[in-house]
Amino acid sequence: MRAVVLDADGRPRLAELPEPETPLEVLACGLCGSDVEKLGRAPAGTVLGHEVVARAADGRRLALVHHRPCGECGRCRAGHETTCERFSAPTIVPGGFAERVETAEGVELVDALDDARSTMVEPLACVLRGAERVPRGRVLVIGNGFVGRLFGAVLARRGDDVFAADADPARAGRAPDGPVDAAVVCARGAGADALEAVQPGGTVLVFADAGELPAELVYRRELTVVGSRSATPESMRAAAALLPDFDVPEPTVLPLARFEEGLELFVRRQVLKVVFVP
Ligand SMILES: [Zn+2]
Ligand SMILES: [Zn+2]
Repeated sequence: MRAVVLDADGRPRLAELPEPETPLEVLACGLCGSDVEKLGRAPAGTVLGHEVVARAADGRRLALVHHRPCGECGRCRAGHETTCERFSAPTIVPGGFAERVETAEGVELVDALDDARSTMVEPLACVLRGAERVPRGRVLVIGNGFVGRLFGAVLARRGDDVFAADADPARAGRAPDGPVDAAVVCARGAGADALEAVQPGGTVLVFADAGELPAELVYRRELTVVGSRSATPESMRAAAALLPDFDVPEPTVLPLARFEEGLELFVRRQVLKVVFVP
């Protein structure tokens, strides 16, 4: 079968891989910022892609669960399932940018959602889980790309007053007119900006590699800094239920054979979201 495989330099190349033993047909797979970060770093032979929609043998369409916490250890019980020792083992093999994957657990999708939009179950699940750690009120989202916009939509839906900043003026949303109650870091290196933006006693959710944080501000302003990463099977189910009624940015859909072109569009910030279909 065909798949996008990283070569010795960590660059993506279309290649032939052996068929999975118990295959599921991949219908679509979204490109995530975390996939892009692995380019040039992940070992040769890696197949990226974790925002996968596949067809089960019985015809049902599934959003695949890409990691499974044990559900029983102390971290799982404390709500930090993504730090469970079992979580890091990938459950989508070899990866979503392929024609087929090994049979894996998934969340069932409704017909109203097409394949490309259905890949957004996974990023929406990450955002729903992260939003639980954001107090309600005036919230600034820093980094207004695809994930930042999902965040803004989730927060607005629950009644927050949402603002959005981005280093790219073309992407910035409504600027805050004063200190906010909470900030969400969706852009690399934006942690310090987030700490500056919140009022004393405020909360910063770190949802991306936020860079250096001035701890003195945390101390003097009595700020709360929390982190959230990835999704759980539970948040995937919640996202699958919510997504049909949810306004999401229109994805750019390309065949897997045009992976490098789609990657360029995404990296150059010409599109918000790219989804590949085999
Ligand atoms: Zn992702
Ligand atoms: Zn666990």
